[in-house]
Amino acid sequence: MAYYVGVDLGATNVRSVVADDEGEILGQARDGTPRGPTGIAVTEAVLGVVRRACAEAGIDPSEAVACGIGAIGPLDLAEGAVENPANLPDTIDRIPLTGPLSVLLDTDNVYLHNDTNAGVIGERFHSDRNPDDMVYLTISSGVGAGVCVDGHVLAGWDGNAGEVGHMTLDPHGFMTCGCGHDGHWEGYCSGNNIPKYARELHQEDPVETALPIDDPDFSAVDVFEHAGDDEFADHVVDQVGHWNAMGVANIVHAYAPLIIYVGGAVALNNPELILEPIREQMSDMVMSNIPEIQLTTLGDEVVVEGALASAMTAGTGDRSRL
Ligand SMILES: [Zn+2]
Repeated sequence: MAYYVGVDLGATNVRSVVADDEGEILGQARDGTPRGPTGIAVTEAVLGVVRRACAEAGIDPSEAVACGIGAIGPLDLAEGAVENPANLPDTIDRIPLTGPLSVLLDTDNVYLHNDTNAGVIGERFHSDRNPDDMVYLTISSGVGAGVCVDGHVLAGWDGNAGEVGHMTLDPHGFMTCGCGHDGHWEGYCSGNNIPKYARELHQEDPVETALPIDDPDFSAVDVFEHAGDDEFADHVVDQVGHWNAMGVANIVHAYAPLIIYVGGAVALNNPELILEPIREQMSDMVMSNIPEIQLTTLGDEVVVEGALASAMTAGTGDRSRL
């Protein structure tokens, strides 16, 4: 029997699963992602959940034949590490992953991906047609994509291909993105930025609204909850839908996917309000073939499932590699 390990290193949680060669999950473990003191503490937490998942599966870590990791970015692929992660405290500069996991699992078959690339590997693996050309788009606290073209999951030299949330969509730069640049897709449409965007729109045109615009806890959830009964909330949802459609149209023109799976909390919690406006505007924006646009089939499990699928298919999600 061959055993495979999948790891999801997020800004909030670290998870690991252990499966057999049929992909059946035999053990799993989870822990909070340490906030410091340094990246080594995060590495140790990853090793800890992998050890616990192996124990639950009843195997020694050295019995695993391969491991896939889906991690927060940015990555240093050559070093097999996360480098200065944006969503963890500044004292965490480097999180070594590939080396320490190779030692623990006694294998060189350790595949490191950013979380959206793990997502596209998982969707590819679990999709009926095992497509060679597809995109996994996440709309959550950030916006990003994992892209598979002609059977290759695109990583880029440093592992950071697919940062589509930082494409400039608005030449006027009405909103500033968390990365510091103006007019980026994520600055309008991520879960963190939707309330900021709503506030800016409201300042331009202070119409009456039931949205708690001035409440410090005002969030994207409020906007979507009021959609349908509040004109201003509808306006925000329409604007967000328009930027999302523009971003997706750019992805279609750049990569020619057959299918785009959309995940991330904003999409998972509001599938119709997020997906419908994108589908509706495709024919107005796209000059080439329009792909299918669907909600992820793997929900919150997409990154850890993708990491496991990567371990089972040598980093590809291609089922012919099983
Ligand atoms: Zn940006």
